[in-house]
Amino acid sequence: MPQPLRFQVLAHDPSSSARVGRVETPHGAFATPAFVPVATRAAVRALAASDLRTLDAEVVLCNTYHLFLRPGAETIAALGGLHGFMGWAAPIITDSGGYQVFSLGAGQEADELKGRRRGPAQPSLVRITEEGVEFRSPLDGARHFFTPEQAIAVQHQLGADILLAFDECTAYHHDYAYTRASVQRTHRWAERCLAYHRASPHAERQALFGIVQGGVHRDLREQSAAFIGGLPFDGLAIGGSLGRTKQEWFQVVEWVIPQLPAERPRHLLGVGDVDDLVEGIARGVDWFDCALPTRLARHGTLLGPWPAERWRLHLTRGEFARDASPVDPTCDCLTCREHTRAYLHYLLRSGEATGWRLATIHNLAFLLRLMRAARECIVAGRFAAWRAAVLGVG
Ligand SMILES: [Zn+2]
Repeated sequence: MPQPLRFQVLAHDPSSSARVGRVETPHGAFATPAFVPVATRAAVRALAASDLRTLDAEVVLCNTYHLFLRPGAETIAALGGLHGFMGWAAPIITDSGGYQVFSLGAGQEADELKGRRRGPAQPSLVRITEEGVEFRSPLDGARHFFTPEQAIAVQHQLGADILLAFDECTAYHHDYAYTRASVQRTHRWAERCLAYHRASPHAERQALFGIVQGGVHRDLREQSAAFIGGLPFDGLAIGGSLGRTKQEWFQVVEWVIPQLPAERPRHLLGVGDVDDLVEGIARGVDWFDCALPTRLARHGTLLGPWPAERWRLHLTRGEFARDASPVDPTCDCLTCREHTRAYLHYLLRSGEATGWRLATIHNLAFLLRLMRAARECIVAGRFAAWRAAVLGVG
């Protein structure tokens, strides 16, 4: 059977678990470590596929759940799959929809997974059974039932290069007993996803990744990593609640990665702060996806080499109204080459779509350049010094 994905490790950093690799898919290759921009509804918000190509983005991630609800997987399949539909010929990853099914259901789960403060308890719109998950569409209230097999079938129709197994994404507030039962169910669902996928001709062109769960519990994380890593997935992802503090999630990643087979790629789901990326790379993560950098851009927060300010510049503040300097003088993106902080300040305060576009272009340019630098420094044996300099501790 032809392989849908080839992964080669090209270099290791002697001071950490960081590594440089190359992933080949039927739609081309990408270099790792990588930051994967999130194109939730088949578009990185405010950008066109041509903008992503100009930024040298090599791979994007789309959300199965949103695309399943609208415009529907059959529609996308009829229009050439995601690649044809969105005009992006390079690699695409789709998530399984599990995270959104749980996080968009009302109630405590949603608030926690989205990092919101907990409000008054609301009934959940999500019902979980061994067979699958029933949920209501927030668009029209229609009931849907997702089984692991259906989550894969929908991703087959969407046509991405890398698919993710259907899992239950547990929140931090769940206790040990609940999390253990949930992980075991996620493992049974992983086997069902894999069986369904491997029985299909799509397995020749689409790769399937398993997801490690287990909350913040060491034994559950280690068991999950060993179980999921022991199944014939093409790669592995780390999902779920990684804890409330950075220290907690560093710990979770340190428990999981040594249990995973070294020859297969590792995707850390939903993490994208600058220090998260650098520390994740140091712990052996190959790629990250996160909507945070593009969401921050639309809210007027631009990223740059400023560790003392958590790498953030809040451009909507009054102090930038007459600032004629570029967002980041060291950045060569279109936004920094052609426009001032004052212009972006004005556009963003006025709610102009051009402001979202220019801010998004800069934030992605910054993170994609950060990843290129990480790869170059790992290859050149300078990763430890680079890590300290980026984090501002050198
Ligand atoms: Zn820039």
